[in-house]
Amino acid sequence: MEKGNISVQTENIFPIIKKFLYSEQEIFLRELVSNAVDATNKLRVLSNKGEFKGELGDLTIDVILSKEDKTITIRDRGIGMSAEEIKKYLNQVAFSSASEFLEKYKEDSSIIGHFGLGFYSAFMVAKKVDVISRSYREEEDAVEWSCTGDPSYTLEKTEKDDRGTDIVLHIGEDGEEYLEKERLEGLLKKYCGFLPIPIRFGKREEQETVGEGEDAKTVTREVDNIINNPNPLWKKNPNELKDEDYKNFYKELYPFAQPPLFWIHLNIDYPFNLNGVLYFPRLENSMVEPEKNKIKLYSNQVYVTDEVSNILPPFLMHLHGVIDSPDIPLNVSRSYLQTDQNVRKITGYITKKVAEKLREIFNDSREEFESKWDQFGIFVKYGMITEEKFYDKALSFVLLKNTEGKYYTLEEHKEAVKQEQKDKNDMLTLLYASNEQAQKSFINSATNRGYEVLVMDQVIDNHFMQHLEHKNQDFRFKRVDADTIDNLIDKDEKIDSVLSEKDEEKLKELFESEIDTEKSGLRLELKPLTPREQPVVIVRPEFLRRMQEMQAMQGMNASMGDMSNVVVNTNHPIFSQKLLKMRSPEKKKQLVQTLFDLARLNQNMLSGEELEKFVNRNLELLQ
Ligand code: ADP
Repeated sequence: MEKGNISVQTENIFPIIKKFLYSEQEIFLRELVSNAVDATNKLRVLSNKGEFKGELGDLTIDVILSKEDKTITIRDRGIGMSAEEIKKYLNQVAFSSASEFLEKYKEDSSIIGHFGLGFYSAFMVAKKVDVISRSYREEEDAVEWSCTGDPSYTLEKTEKDDRGTDIVLHIGEDGEEYLEKERLEGLLKKYCGFLPIPIRFGKREEQETVGEGEDAKTVTREVDNIINNPNPLWKKNPNELKDEDYKNFYKELYPFAQPPLFWIHLNIDYPFNLNGVLYFPRLENSMVEPEKNKIKLYSNQVYVTDEVSNILPPFLMHLHGVIDSPDIPLNVSRSYLQTDQNVRKITGYITKKVAEKLREIFNDSREEFESKWDQFGIFVKYGMITEEKFYDKALSFVLLKNTEGKYYTLEEHKEAVKQEQKDKNDMLTLLYASNEQAQKSFINSATNRGYEVLVMDQVIDNHFMQHLEHKNQDFRFKRVDADTIDNLIDKDEKIDSVLSEKDEEKLKELFESEIDTEKSGLRLELKPLTPREQPVVIVRPEFLRRMQEMQAMQGMNASMGDMSNVVVNTNHPIFSQKLLKMRSPEKKKQLVQTLFDLARLNQNMLSGEELEKFVNRNLELLQ
């Protein structure tokens, strides 16, 4: 038996490993199974080249758990290693690259989970590791190497019938959780679920119906428990795939999610290599911001992470799916990733691809596009706000919906309303409602006037409209309750007041004594409007309201008070015919109160005690 010391600079890197890697401990399994896959693939290559002439046979990799012995064994039938190779690869390469790696990245332990530690990660969970290996070359003896993580090791000849390598981990105290079958299987599924060589984890039971009709019975069979799908969809040729395949794969990834809306198959070899499928998820509730980080990142089918914020632009982080690229540098720090040219190219490519695909669906099946818009429009809007390039592309297919349920592109909508909705300065006003129910009466006044009203009720819509305004100078958005219908789009049509100056003054006094402008922050305005407009309307001027909303978003108190105006329509007949003719000051007061309350009701401003008073007063009047 040979005994020796592995020559490494760091006398004992065991404590360092423990210290830095504890949180990423579970990656040991991925590293060891990936090595087994590599060894198997290497043998295949040799076989293809004719350098290995034997039978490849079954190449399935086994992960064997023995709770009794407290061991986990990873067994492959790959190229194996001779004594010399073990010395070279495990004693030198594995140890020195591990210590080098730790030295380099000890400041940023979060990335160690990505890649680079390799074989040595076995010592995060094992107090002793045995490697029993037989090279594919017939003339080499089988050997057993054993090491406890400090620099001493033993190496001796052994018996092994089959070609390949067994890595036996003698699990120490730190790794006991991995001796639980469920835990280990869970990890295998997470990290190795799409590795390209079948991986078996013991047996599992399968129910099968045999016989027919009355003789039919269910039997339980034991079958190999293969934990991975070695041919994941993203590696296949899109031309050979059907919608059903994409839907089934989605189910495989997210068993509990609703079927997706659309998907995009990414497939590129040059100037970098990247495959993947991105799905637009169906949102349970379009008002809620979709979940982030549901995309899984792979490198050659090895799971790396679901933290994709360095690789994807923010709006795509809300999509679902898989990205697989060996060209994304994984063992470097975050700040590096953000400036890396290759990563920037990848980001740009994915963004472009997503825009192209959406454009294609829009062109080919607009009906389908519209029917799903309420669900996925939020992603498009978010993308337009945050990515300049995406904005340019998406402008041709971003949709606006009006209160009748009709969908327009921005250009189409502008075209549709340009006759009616231009103001005296030739500026186009695009009207919208943020809450169809609450703003119903304002919407109706606007549509009766021949205007169209868009529905902008998603969380993102305020930002989105602001962004569109910022990028375009030829239109402005205005909420339907921003002004009285006469003034919503200012066309400079003068309307004279039917009241004399004296009557107007009286009217003003009556309202002033009822509305505490100081306390409520409301402003009172008397205006001659068309007689069929309501007698009193409360409006929320667009600019002030937006400022207030912005303050509220930033968590500031609405220090500006209520930004509403109470507009009294001096031309409404109720004033000239009724109010101003009344004798009893008591009755006058009541009428003014009621008109004001009705205006407040219309704006959902009446609640609690005030609502109760309003109801009681009206009940009294009925008696
Ligand atoms: P890496 O895989 O990044 O090269 P590792 O530390 O994981 O680094 O492994 C070091 C080397 O040991 C590998 O490059 C490979 O040559 C050899 N090796 C590891 N595991 C196996 C295995 N199961 N079969 C054959 N060779 C292996």
